[in-house]
Amino acid sequence: MTTKLLVATHNRGKVAEFADMLGDMAIEWFSLDEVGIEKDVEETGSTFCENAVLKAQSYAKMTGMLTLADDSGLQVDALNGEPGIFTARYGGAGLTHEDRYRLLLQNMRDVPWPQRTARFRATIALAAPDGSLLGTAEGVCEGMIANEPAGNGGFGYDPVFLLPDRGQTMAQVGSAVKHTISHRGQAMKAIEPLLRQVLAD
Ligand code: IMP
Repeated sequence: MTTKLLVATHNRGKVAEFADMLGDMAIEWFSLDEVGIEKDVEETGSTFCENAVLKAQSYAKMTGMLTLADDSGLQVDALNGEPGIFTARYGGAGLTHEDRYRLLLQNMRDVPWPQRTARFRATIALAAPDGSLLGTAEGVCEGMIANEPAGNGGFGYDPVFLLPDRGQTMAQVGSAVKHTISHRGQAMKAIEPLLRQVLAD
């Protein structure tokens, strides 16, 4: 028997990414658009965790479906942890991903190499069909903000997020490698046992 699972995103690519990571599970995956939800829940939390929980519980209540939500972003040490929970909106409305990472490079122009440390963080929350919280999991991926963009893979800030051990940006490593090392991959791995248990119950 397959279980219907809503992923709290309009981005079908993100749903595919999750489905890919948990390929062997008997899950029928849905995005918000596929269940007819157009409006976004306002992300009023002050941490990734609060926002992920808010989204998972709100959409579960709205739909009566088992719901998985993630919230993620980039923390740059030289910018005191910014853009953090505002990563998706960095620089304001109407910018492309490229505009945003170029703004980041501009704001980092005087920061010397050893101080360009940064990390992607992700929290995943799972809510039951009645809206109660089943659990959360976190993932972190450490790196450095590159001096220049490189690579065409991934999305968002991947071209400027350098993985020092590999000497490549997240946009250069390919999606299979990204899934194993990324913040979302780590968070997904951490929530997997809970999801398996919920599906078995
Ligand atoms: P959200 O969790 O979908 O709200 O995403 C927050 C923002 O963080 C995204 O719009 C991206 O700009 C950035 N981000 C999150 N995950 C990644 C990633 O894996 N690569 C590059 N940028 C990311």
